[in-house]
Amino acid sequence: MLELRGVSRVFEKRLDTVEKLARLLGAPVAEARVNAVDDASFDVARGEVVGLVGESGCGKSTLGRMVAGLLPVTRGTIRFEDADVTDAASPAARAARLKLQMIFQDPMSSLNPRMRVEEIVGEAAVHHRLTTRAEMTDYVAATLAKVGLDPAYAQRYPHQFSGGQRQRIGIARALAVQPDFLICDESIAALDVSIQAQVINLFQDLRRDLDLTYLFISHDLGVIEHIADRVVVMYLGRVVEIAPAEALFDGPRHPYAQALLDQAPRLDAGRRVFHPIKGEIPSPLNPPPGCHFHPRCPLAGPRCRREAPALRHDGPRAVACHLEDGGTA
Ligand code: SF4
Repeated sequence: MLELRGVSRVFEKRLDTVEKLARLLGAPVAEARVNAVDDASFDVARGEVVGLVGESGCGKSTLGRMVAGLLPVTRGTIRFEDADVTDAASPAARAARLKLQMIFQDPMSSLNPRMRVEEIVGEAAVHHRLTTRAEMTDYVAATLAKVGLDPAYAQRYPHQFSGGQRQRIGIARALAVQPDFLICDESIAALDVSIQAQVINLFQDLRRDLDLTYLFISHDLGVIEHIADRVVVMYLGRVVEIAPAEALFDGPRHPYAQALLDQAPRLDAGRRVFHPIKGEIPSPLNPPPGCHFHPRCPLAGPRCRREAPALRHDGPRAVACHLEDGGTA
């Protein structure tokens, strides 16, 4: 359903006044470039929930925004069904983008505080002719019911709701344009733990009832283990492991995925000892050469410091580590 091939996104940090001045005086100062996402390739099948995990700053949100069409790619292609969604000008891409909706982390900042729920949820549906202005009230009521909200709330404003209810409004707004694919970017991270469980259950119910497919971005491995069919692990902009969720949580193969799971609180945490990943995550402005993980990897060898490992596919799994090709690190 979704196909990413060699997707990359480079951000340029502009020079500040002092740096510009230094350059005018002849200093070798150049704009810094950040490879926020570097050559990411994976697929999502219809009906699947693919979890995208990694530490903060690994590029997972940037990748989600590119899939949603909110951020252009620097290189590579993203195909949804048969449309190239990276071709912003094409009518097929515009139609595909309507089917790809994003649910954000902070419902308060993503909802217009001056609009009533009816307008928030119904405007885009009217604009895209999925309903008429005359029928919008009924359309919104039906959509609110799908996310477990009382349709009588439609005339209220976002500040009159709890965090969990606001997130349900955000989900209703996405559902109102009848998407096939939801990109959930830390969509439950801002909620209380008890509310998180309710919203996860809502996502699972919607998946079953509306035949939805998800790219579920989260730093919370407990949530990913619970909801995802397959998991894509990212480190400093690169995909380092792809695996069915059960296989990954039973036995991660990439040393970073092993370390990430080792330090994460899990449902069986009572009998686990946590081992934090050693060292700080390096600055994406100046990533280590070769395998980006080598300064923190207990298995790193000379090859890791000079050569970036390719993502090697082995059945349903793929791992980017020199140790995977039978050679040495
Ligand atoms: Fe560790 Fe080397 Fe594998 Fe990178 S390529 S994860 S540094 S062993």
